[in-house]
Amino acid sequence: MALDQLVLASGNKGKLKELRHVLEPLHLKVHSQADFKVAAVAETGLTFVENALLKAREAARVSKLPALGDDSGLVVDALKGQPGIYSARFAGDNASDRDNNELLLEKLSGVIAERRQAAFYCCLVLLQHHRDPAPIIATGIWHGTILEAPRGSGGFGYDPLFYDPQLGTTAAELSMAEKAQVSHRGKALKALIGKLKG
Ligand code: IMP
Repeated sequence: MALDQLVLASGNKGKLKELRHVLEPLHLKVHSQADFKVAAVAETGLTFVENALLKAREAARVSKLPALGDDSGLVVDALKGQPGIYSARFAGDNASDRDNNELLLEKLSGVIAERRQAAFYCCLVLLQHHRDPAPIIATGIWHGTILEAPRGSGGFGYDPLFYDPQLGTTAAELSMAEKAQVSHRGKALKALIGKLKG
């Protein structure tokens, strides 16, 4: 698929930074949806893929350019998959990262270390235009556990509580380049780039 520019269908600064970083080698012109005054869509889907599609479709419709939607979140085993698609608004509609992290710790209080498994999940959807019937879809998963207190100052969202036992660090203790190597978003983007080339 020939692609020389696209719009990132997200208003989340942390995500935008990471997506731009991984897309750099492709030498695409990468726009933010804010450049086209794309308003946030209602995330009415019940799955990551549905919401990523809604975001990409709206950004493509308004910008008239190909659009990449990202819907992602944290899936915690002991909470039956919560916060999942509600990760950004776990503690309420205008919740900050800190509010969400505090609520997560509260919900997991008393849960022993061995039962604190979680995964970050990312679904990316690329649409050539808003009526594109054949989106390119790629997903990525990052397994880890939830600590009892935050560690690190990098990243965004739940990064300070998300611990990767293989690396021995939280997501917030990784540089952006290190995070892109192992993260749900980095993996999804690599898979998407593979599909674009293939
Ligand atoms: P979305 O913008 O509706 O997809 O919500 C994504 C939410 O999931 C973010 O606001 C974070 O709370 C969480 N999230 C997704 N990816 C990451 C990540 O890489 N690190 C930390 N939190 C993440």
